[in-house]
Amino acid sequence: MRLLVVEDDKDLNRQLVAAFTDAGYAVDAAFDGEEGHFLGDTEPYDAIVLDIGLPKMDGISVLEEWRREGRTAPVLILTARDRWSDKVQGIDAGADDYVAKPFHIEEVLARIRALVRRSAGHASNEVECGPVRLDARAGRVTVDGNPIKLTSHEYRLLAYLMMHQGRTISRTELIEHLYDQDFDRDSNTIEVFVGRLRKKLPADIIQTVRGLGYCIEPPGHAD
Ligand code: CA
Repeated sequence: MRLLVVEDDKDLNRQLVAAFTDAGYAVDAAFDGEEGHFLGDTEPYDAIVLDIGLPKMDGISVLEEWRREGRTAPVLILTARDRWSDKVQGIDAGADDYVAKPFHIEEVLARIRALVRRSAGHASNEVECGPVRLDARAGRVTVDGNPIKLTSHEYRLLAYLMMHQGRTISRTELIEHLYDQDFDRDSNTIEVFVGRLRKKLPADIIQTVRGLGYCIEPPGHAD
């Protein structure tokens, strides 16, 4: 899962990026409204954290533009304390949730987790596929109840496929959702990570759909 943080307060931006990176997300950062608008318009984020008070272009205008242009990524806005009008304006402009400053990073993490899973159609943080169980809150994967060790890239890849189980995901889509913009995007790396992941999981969990990509079938699926 890949996120965008648009926040002009450099310390706060860094804290958010560090917390999301620790939680296993790929994260891009923008420090003003124009840069944020551009990134949100050109990259397919799974969720966006958007400050309202931004230089060059305010957060409400950024959000209105995205929605006008048909960008549907879930957006959590950061509002100033006691500015109830920001919340109303932001939600009317297309925000999915808000957090008022000052906030605990844990709350932003929990709200982003909820937005990401809901936009993938899951009401719970736990997703199962046969013996494989993903706990998005704990960032943990078990097979038959036994925890397995995954690198952050492997975890992200598996989480994305499990969150979208039943759908064939192309390599391009995986690259766009698993790596930040500075990552050297070589589509061969996806094959390498899928290979490593397969060694840690039961056989046939991740299926190759020739010429199209990869798929994890939901439990009970029969060909
Ligand atoms: Ca600000």
